[in-house]
Amino acid sequence: MNHRGAARLRGGHLWVYRSDLVPPGEAPAGSLVHVRDERGRHLGSVLYSSASQIAIRLLTGDEIGEAQLTTLLRERIAAAVRFREQVARDTDSCRLIFSEADLLPGLILDKYNDVLSMQALTQAFDRQDLRQAVFDAIAEHFPQASVVERVDPHIRELEQLPPRESQLVRGERSSTIFTMNGVRFHFDGLGGQKTGAFLDQRENYAAAARYAHGDALDCFTYQGGFALHLARVCTTVAAVDSSRPALEVAERNEQLNRAAHRCGEIEWIEANAFDLLKDYATANRQYDTIVLDPPAFAKTKRTVPTALRGYKELNLRALKMLRPGGILVTCSCSFHVSEGEFLAMLGSAAADAGRRVRILEERSQSLDHPILLNLPETAYLKCLICQVL
Ligand code: SAH
Repeated sequence: MNHRGAARLRGGHLWVYRSDLVPPGEAPAGSLVHVRDERGRHLGSVLYSSASQIAIRLLTGDEIGEAQLTTLLRERIAAAVRFREQVARDTDSCRLIFSEADLLPGLILDKYNDVLSMQALTQAFDRQDLRQAVFDAIAEHFPQASVVERVDPHIRELEQLPPRESQLVRGERSSTIFTMNGVRFHFDGLGGQKTGAFLDQRENYAAAARYAHGDALDCFTYQGGFALHLARVCTTVAAVDSSRPALEVAERNEQLNRAAHRCGEIEWIEANAFDLLKDYATANRQYDTIVLDPPAFAKTKRTVPTALRGYKELNLRALKMLRPGGILVTCSCSFHVSEGEFLAMLGSAAADAGRRVRILEERSQSLDHPILLNLPETAYLKCLICQVL
């Protein structure tokens, strides 16, 4: 590979783009390949994709062969599971394998109580032998659990893989009930209407509940992640999402919890959060706690300015509607928007709103979604908890 590709790997990143390969990629799809720099010096063993712009993902700096590959995978999976045993508290659910951040680039494995959900993101992890190695390792660690393979058709297209249906790979159940911080949720890995959760927000749910009080508004609630946590400590919760199916699951989640513990009034509202915030602001509605957790606005570097305008509009309106002492929990899951840019956006929104804002916590994703230093793409979630003075 060329100098730029080699510098990336030596700098600690795991990816090299196709444009940095010389000669440009000739290996079979999904194969294990040894890569060298322009002077022939060995750089490591990588998994190759014949389709993706991310042509190679480094597995190890050592020169290993196919025979050692499954052993390496088993070791890495075991290490990933051990790490979650240390860091995933107050839950029966977490991300067990987070791709590059667990040095298993292209593999995602989530645990929802007794159902595991696996996703292969690359040609390599779609190979029958590697999938089998992964399933065997999973069976060893979680002999009782069912396993579903979840397929993202868009990713398969990008990797030029033939379409495949999501399916139950082991066990009998693809749905279950799982718990985060004592709050219960439905999970259905295969059903017509997929359910699940943003496991990366688990620690932020608990953190938000430590400050939340009074009347709360949860914009972009999805299946009620923040709203159900807030309901344990707030008097009322208005939870907004534009997706009716998501809100239907949220209501079912509410039923799961109402019997089990204290739950404030929750109103599930189907609406566009931008319009609703505007209307509520005009109507002079006031809240003590507001959560903003929109979908990623910036999917590429180019759309960052537009994304920042969207974030600012939401945050400005929310800040205006908070009573003194009120709490704003504001998130961005756009990797392309840096923490610095997000903070600057919030600062500018506070200035325009004429409010003084104190930052209580600068948070990120839960520890079961670890961040690999030198691989910035693994750090994507920002969650600021603020108090309006
Ligand atoms: N806070 C949630 C995750 C939010 S995901 C949790 O913790 O589980 C983003 C959600 O925003 C999705 O459910 C999507 O349906 C919703 N959404 C997208 N655009 C929207 C809009 N303009 N108004 C309201 N909801 C929107």
